[in-house]
Amino acid sequence: MHAHPSLEEGSNGKLYIDDVSKPNLGLILHAAFWYKPGEFKIEDVEKPQIKPNEVLIRIKYCGICGTDLHAFTGEIPASWLGIIPPVILGHEFSGEVVEVGKDVTEIEVGDKVTVDPMYGCGRCVPCRRGDIKQCLVMKTIGYSENGGFAEYCKARCDLVYKLPTNVSFEEGALIEPVSCAYHTIERAEIHPGTCVAILGLGSIGLILLQLAKMAGAYPLIAIDLIPQKLELAKKLGADIVLNPKEVDLTEEIKNITNGYGVEVCIEAVGKKGTYEQAIDLVGIGGRAILMGFCPQGTTISLDTWSMMLKEITIKLSRENPFTFEKAITTIESGKVNVKALISHVFSLEEILEGFESFKKEPEKTVKVLIKP
Ligand SMILES: [Zn+2]
Ligand SMILES: [Zn+2]
Repeated sequence: MHAHPSLEEGSNGKLYIDDVSKPNLGLILHAAFWYKPGEFKIEDVEKPQIKPNEVLIRIKYCGICGTDLHAFTGEIPASWLGIIPPVILGHEFSGEVVEVGKDVTEIEVGDKVTVDPMYGCGRCVPCRRGDIKQCLVMKTIGYSENGGFAEYCKARCDLVYKLPTNVSFEEGALIEPVSCAYHTIERAEIHPGTCVAILGLGSIGLILLQLAKMAGAYPLIAIDLIPQKLELAKKLGADIVLNPKEVDLTEEIKNITNGYGVEVCIEAVGKKGTYEQAIDLVGIGGRAILMGFCPQGTTISLDTWSMMLKEITIKLSRENPFTFEKAITTIESGKVNVKALISHVFSLEEILEGFESFKKEPEKTVKVLIKP
């Protein structure tokens, strides 16, 4: 048995030997390595060795993200995500700290934690302007370095967040997606009484829905093609649910809003048609927030006349700058129910099944967690 080479690859792609703050215990562990679209291999790895400013985490749960799905199918190029295969995917995880480097002061062995997986270089222009999630050489645990579909994962201590006592490990694995949705809600500028439509009720859409509710949205309109998702949206706070298979969406939105259109429409699908629809549903002075990731090369067509007359704002939203702490608070408060979104839990050995469940049973699949 030998350590997997990618565990020794430095951030600059060269090989280096980690500083060792504790002797490697030499345990042989399991991890799901991603090689190419559609392929995982469960392999043995040695326990990751931590540097003085890092912690080692025993992973409890790791969620499958929409971006993981896109990477898995090849719709989002691995190179854009900074993936050099083989790598252990998984960036939405929780776990227990089992080792801390000698320079780590605020995290202790036994702490229940989650990790903000993305970090910038701190030196490029976007980083220095404060756009920390737009770094030109962004690193992501779970893409550019080994992530959470494994028994153990290491992380720099400044990326680690302790979970409040009333937040479970299952919930902890959903903090990263909540932090991304939180950023979207910030960009949407939702106030008490703002009329909001959420287009697409996957796990992110259902989180957006709850955050919009928390921000005071009314009426809050949830839109999806799958009746089970609309049912769940109702339970989680939607005032009105609409299925475009059953109603004329444009007409229905007009009826609800006295002909004006919604003030905010958030797109959480990532398709040409829904991008166009989100922009179309926005009323005078409204905002379309596009959050779903379309496959590379997707173009959309826009009715410039209508956009100009309505003087709408279109914003894109990605990643989670400075929102991790707040995301934890929303779950701690009990106002964002992420437990209701967990539809499946699979073991590491069943990871392929986990990825395939989105295609196999879309009506039942919301959030899939892997429990290594
Ligand atoms: Zn994610
Ligand atoms: Zn940077």
